[in-house]
Amino acid sequence: MKKNSILILGLMVLLLVPSLSHAYSYAGRKWNTNTCYFKYGRNMVSLWNPVWSVSVTAAANTWNNAGSRFRLLPNWTINAGLGRDGYNVICGLNRGNNGKLATTTYWYSGSRVLEADMEFNLYYPWGNGVSGAYDRQNIATHEFGHFLVLNDLYAYADRYKTMYGYAGLGETLKRTLHSDDIAGIRYIYGVGRELPEGPDTGSGLKLAAGRHVAGGAAEIHFSIAAAAHCRVEIFDIAGRRIRTLLDADLDAGDHRVQFDSRDNTGRNLPNGVYLARLSAGNACATTKITVVK
Ligand SMILES: [Zn+2]
Repeated sequence: MKKNSILILGLMVLLLVPSLSHAYSYAGRKWNTNTCYFKYGRNMVSLWNPVWSVSVTAAANTWNNAGSRFRLLPNWTINAGLGRDGYNVICGLNRGNNGKLATTTYWYSGSRVLEADMEFNLYYPWGNGVSGAYDRQNIATHEFGHFLVLNDLYAYADRYKTMYGYAGLGETLKRTLHSDDIAGIRYIYGVGRELPEGPDTGSGLKLAAGRHVAGGAAEIHFSIAAAAHCRVEIFDIAGRRIRTLLDADLDAGDHRVQFDSRDNTGRNLPNGVYLARLSAGNACATTKITVVK
């Protein structure tokens, strides 16, 4: 069996050598599923705080809303850091003045991407659209492009694209995708708003949700083959987690949980399609749930 390969991509601070312009550059690899769950690593400097997570989630949703089938979904934190460990980790690290604001590393086998990690260099000042600091969302949007296996562009003509490989202080233009960035992700993953299928990592993991109707609660039922710590969470189709219904240790067997179509703040959710995700140990499964009032 062929050894897995590794590719490291950095976002550089300085402009070096101009090269030819392309609409987008694609590494010829992709994820096996149309969903990538990312976690905040706790082994380095954790970015699991509202200041960073709001920017990172906004960056992921920019790609989620680009009209491709692919979804980048947040999935809690993990006691892990950088390196090949089966988790797509986002974290911070002081790498000193090395000219790299952020680095995405991904592992692949043949044309299949297996894992990606994203690190931010905390040596540099980070902010939210202010002059004198690098914009978190701006850089995170660029780095998520690497998660999707788009490459850096370095030509001067590419300077307004999210995948342009250089960024300046206070810059926010990478927050918004250029039509060429959108063309890239749609080419790789196809066009559509198809909802993420669960990565189907569970043996014996079964999940189903009833249609939600006026006044009543939808029932989500699932079964697990062995005792595990389970979470049932509701996401909107942009990938925002809006409700945690269950977070507990459960025995093997059948379980059910009710969803009253409210978010974590008690607000009534609008009609539409949502996602219910079951995590049981390291396995997880996702199903659609429709709210109709
Ligand atoms: Zn880059």
